[in-house]
Amino acid sequence: MLTHGKNPKLVVDLNKLRHNVEKVQRMCHDKGVEIAGVIKGCTGLLECVEQFERAGCRFIASSRLEQLEPLKENGIQTPLMMIRIPMLSEVADVVRLTDISLNSEIEVLKALNKQAGIQDKKHQVILMADLGDLREGFWDRDELMEAALMVENDLYNLELAGVGTNLGCYGAVAATPEKLNELVAIAERIEEKLGRELEFISGGATSTLPRIIEDNLPSRINLLRVGEGILLAKDLQDLWGYDMSYMHKDAFTLRAEVIEVKDKPTHPVGEIMFDAFGNQPAYEDRGIRKRALLALGKVDYAFPEELIPREAGITVLGASSDHTILDVEDYDGTIEVGDVIEFDLCYATIVYVTNSNNIEKVYI
Ligand SMILES: *Cc1c(COP(=O)(O)O)cnc(C)c1O
Repeated sequence: MLTHGKNPKLVVDLNKLRHNVEKVQRMCHDKGVEIAGVIKGCTGLLECVEQFERAGCRFIASSRLEQLEPLKENGIQTPLMMIRIPMLSEVADVVRLTDISLNSEIEVLKALNKQAGIQDKKHQVILMADLGDLREGFWDRDELMEAALMVENDLYNLELAGVGTNLGCYGAVAATPEKLNELVAIAERIEEKLGRELEFISGGATSTLPRIIEDNLPSRINLLRVGEGILLAKDLQDLWGYDMSYMHKDAFTLRAEVIEVKDKPTHPVGEIMFDAFGNQPAYEDRGIRKRALLALGKVDYAFPEELIPREAGITVLGASSDHTILDVEDYDGTIEVGDVIEFDLCYATIVYVTNSNNIEKVYI
């Protein structure tokens, strides 16, 4: 487990990531569905984005402009998609940096149109319908129709590329065939009024992949925006129970260095008040056990309970800002100061780890 060089590190296996993108891409293509590769989960690391591009994603997508901004000048040619509803204050940058955006406010659409005119550009928009997950999207179907007609007939610098929805984010609402048929119905009502087909009907994110796997995606859905299901591919297996054994769940590895190894009590000694975050936790007394301390902490990954040690016999007890405490009593081997411990990440932690300046990124 010994290693050299700067720690902590994030090691990204680009072949594994590439395999995952290609796999999801092929599964979807077989059903007539294109992919917007969502890069926000890995903070838009260029080396990762390149794997999405090489696999042939229709769009590279992020919720943050600062992740999309450096891509074109670094050689990415795939059209870029802004998937967080734009702030009014960033419409100029949305038009400048991206080709297409998801939208839910007429005022923002008007501002995008104006900016596109100023920049002499056509900007594509997908109008979002909220089908009950209660995050972004038009709730009132008539208002959505009004926006669609306005984009089509009045906002000359915009192009109505389609409609979309997002499910399973706030309301934890499942992307069932019935829900997605609602989206198709909305799209077809708009198409009837416009007298033309919409290019995209975007039926959600990773949480819609079960429809691909079960082959019951409404046939007119032709675009999904997928992040987690490519980067980590854990949720569909762990939460939904699908066999995802053909995906690499270990494309990302966090490596952290041991700075202290000692036998210590498991129950704090003294009057228990508050921890570093103002909590009063409960501690189980399991006697004296071997513990290891790592030189990274919540600032780097936010959720210690979501760090998954690769090796058996190691558990994460907790963390403060810059320290992580492991129980290594049951580890079958020796752990010494200077050793490196490896962890799997999940979607919640990987975004912090890729964001952390403290963590060196290494690509293999
Ligand atoms: C984050 C996001 C996605 C991708 O979600 P995953 O669960 O990572 O696949 C898709 N669409 C929108 C609007 C998002 O915000």
